Order: sequence, then structure tokens, then C-alpha cells
Amino acid sequence: MTNMLVIGNWKMNGSRKSNAQWLSKVLAPLERMDHVEVAVCPPFIYLEQLANLVVNSHLLLGAQNLCQAEHGAFTGEISGAMIRDFGCHFVLVGHSERRSLYGETNDLVAAKFHSALRDGLVPVLCVGETLAQRKSGETLAVVNDQLRAVIDAVGIEQVGRGVIAYEPVWAIGTGETATPIQAQEVHQHIREYLAQFDAEVARTTRILYGGSVKGDNAFDLFSQPDIDGGLVGGASLDASSFVAICEAAQACHN
Ligand code: PEP
Repeated sequence: MTNMLVIGNWKMNGSRKSNAQWLSKVLAPLERMDHVEVAVCPPFIYLEQLANLVVNSHLLLGAQNLCQAEHGAFTGEISGAMIRDFGCHFVLVGHSERRSLYGETNDLVAAKFHSALRDGLVPVLCVGETLAQRKSGETLAVVNDQLRAVIDAVGIEQVGRGVIAYEPVWAIGTGETATPIQAQEVHQHIREYLAQFDAEVARTTRILYGGSVKGDNAFDLFSQPDIDGGLVGGASLDASSFVAICEAAQACHN
């Protein structure tokens, strides 16, 4: 079995001081966890600070977004190569806040996924439905469309080089978590959908759950058969909550 994966998404939070304090509480406990891969995605501007502080530790770095273009006249944007230059391993693509607040379409997300791979990063493709879509029974169709755009753009083998995060929009930052059964249903569906294209990619691609994961619900979520870890927003800001979530992932590895 591949290792569980927990990724913290700090969103637009942090300061040089609080970042250093967070790391001083997280790095030592992580050293004891050999079956969980852990990463954190700070705002771009703190990547260099964190890159210097995580040397020789088990903590990997990620970015929260990238530009689909390689370089050039894209004021305010950051390329995959620049992110890689700062030692990042992962990059989030298609987070629901990027989709809803910044108008990122399935096609743009697919282009970003492609660029991330081109630049040697592991893209973490975020998919998930809104509350209205869930209520009208569209959950699986929405997730299929989000996946299909990427499969069509890069091919199924390349999708297998990334990670998928199922993040129901109604559970992000709301304190309302999908039940383990609700989450497992969609995770299993994602695996079955991928299997229609390539059974091996379906079997080996890690599918994370995101949406109000906390220390006290992480174990029940992560112990579902098709949940391979978590993408954690709010609770990743607090060092002890984040460590508790990583410990739950470690305990679920079997
Ligand atoms: C996220 O931002 O990806 C997320 C899942 O946030 P939260 O854990 O706060 O719901």
C-alpha cells in the first residue's frame, strides 16, 4: 500500500513569526511518522522561508496555485518552474476557491495540471460539488466533468502522476464535514471512473478527502477504503491539530 498523504493548505494565512512557530511544533512529531507523507502549502511569499526551515525534515512543500503559462507577460502570476525552484513538490490545482472566486474553468484547471507536470511538480487536482449540485443529485456528474477535462487534456497516464482531492464545496471551511460514508461513496466513484480509462491508474492514484477535516474526525474518514489521506485547510493552521490529523493518517495505514 502506498503511504497516506496529508497536505495542509494555509490559504492566505501566516506570518514569518507564526510560520516559524508552527514548524517548531510540527517537524519533530513528523519524524516519528513513517507511513504518512506530509506537505504544507503556504502562501507563495513564504515558500523561501519554509524551504530553508524544512531542510533535512520529512515535511514537503507545495504551492496553492500556479500559472498555466511557462513565463512572460503575466503580471502577478507565478510559474510552475518558479515554484519548483523553491523546492516545492506539490501544487494545488482547481481548488474550489480558485474556481468560484477567480473563475477558473475546468479547461483552465486542466491546463494548469499539464503545466505542473511539465515543470516537475505533482499536481493535486481538487474536485467537488456545491451544496446546490448535491441537493439536485448532480454530485457524480460534476466530479466526472472535472476529471474528464483533465483526462482529455493530458491523458489518463499523466493523471496518474498527480493526486486527486475530493473536496465537497459545502464542507470547505464550514465546519460541516462529509460523513465517512458520503465521502467514501464519492471516492469509490472516482476510482471507478478512472478505472474506465485505466485500471492501474485507478488503483494507484491517491485520492484525498478535504472539507473540515479535524483531529477528531480524521481517523474515521481516513480509515475508509478509498480515502488515502486529507487536504486540510483551517485545521492545518494550528500545529497541534495538524499533528493530530497526521497521526490519524499514520494510524490508518495498514
Ligand atoms: C481546503 O481549503 O482545501 C479545505 C479543505 O479547507 P477546510 O479544511 O478549512 O474545510
